[in-house]
Amino acid sequence: MSRNTPWIILLCKFSDDPGMSTLRSIADYAAFFAGDDPDSIPSYWRDISNGELDLVTGTEISPWLQLKQKRSDHKGLDTRKDLFQWAKAAGRDAGIDFGRFFGVTVFFSVATDLFGTSDSPHVVCDLLSSPAQIQQEYGHAYGLKHSRSVVNPIDYRNPFCTMSSMIFGTDDVVFRRVDPTFPGRWGASGPGLCSPYVLASGWLPEPRSVKVASNGRYPSSTLLDLSPLGDMNPTHPQVAVVDFDTPQSVRYCIEYRRGGWDRGIFYDPIVLHQVRADGLSYYAGLIRPFKAGSGGDATHPLPAVSAGKWYVDQQYDLSVEFIAMSPDRGMVTLRIAPAAGARTLSVRGIAASKLQLTGSFSIGNQVLTRKEEPLRGRLIDLLGR
Ligand SMILES: [Zn+2]
Repeated sequence: MSRNTPWIILLCKFSDDPGMSTLRSIADYAAFFAGDDPDSIPSYWRDISNGELDLVTGTEISPWLQLKQKRSDHKGLDTRKDLFQWAKAAGRDAGIDFGRFFGVTVFFSVATDLFGTSDSPHVVCDLLSSPAQIQQEYGHAYGLKHSRSVVNPIDYRNPFCTMSSMIFGTDDVVFRRVDPTFPGRWGASGPGLCSPYVLASGWLPEPRSVKVASNGRYPSSTLLDLSPLGDMNPTHPQVAVVDFDTPQSVRYCIEYRRGGWDRGIFYDPIVLHQVRADGLSYYAGLIRPFKAGSGGDATHPLPAVSAGKWYVDQQYDLSVEFIAMSPDRGMVTLRIAPAAGARTLSVRGIAASKLQLTGSFSIGNQVLTRKEEPLRGRLIDLLGR
């Protein structure tokens, strides 16, 4: 059963607006803000909430409203709060009953501002705002905070969350500067919402997350299959959760990201997030199932899956090993285990697959007895990655 949250969209012009030829028709704005167009704001939040949020029923859009204020009356942050009141006043003059709506979207015809808040939920945006940006402001209206990253624990640093849009992607060491959005019907859209915020909002039905047994210091070695986080009809769980109390109280969330609103993230990563005591989500790292240097969209098809990749935490006794991906890429198999075990496994894996060192081996001995300097160098290089 979904929660109906009707919005009123106020299309606003300042009194001295010269009129811009770049504006779309009211029907277009209605399709984007109020309709179930596949790339609309209501469709985004319906999908992200797994159908829990209904932003279509009861949502209305105003005709163009002329504000009493001039564009020059808006003085940046000083008048940010006033923008909402100015727009509401124009709406009341036009006979709008605000009591019927959960939230108010104020859309300006000229570059004005961009923000959202859950405090009498409202979003202010303008003709320059991209869907990805507006999606985040709606997230604020539903009470979501910005997301962060472990290596840079400040706002906007989670490459895999709409609550970091604008500068997301910046702390992804492997994919630095790779934009996680995609060009949709209305402009740059996506990505999805990180799983900690999906869970905290109650938007993932219980059987769709799985808790990995843990003694607080490390998890039990567990093999599991995950469907993509954004999959509407998943055949497997979509989030694996591991709780730690050592060295600190942290919840790890592990998810597989591909397709849907994540289709701008073309390389199908397995993504790890921490939820800390502050309740915020911190991007911790990723596993990329494909070989390095490859692209993965229509023009750059991905090469074969390379099994044996892993994530090993530097602080918590946690490893995640990529085992396999189904041929249609709709499922990944992972092993979640203490870190020490994975290090051993991975050294063996590398030795066997990259250096053809096999058998009941001692890697050190084999490398030393071969006395091949390039081999030692390669091993050090591979392990150092
Ligand atoms: Zn924000």
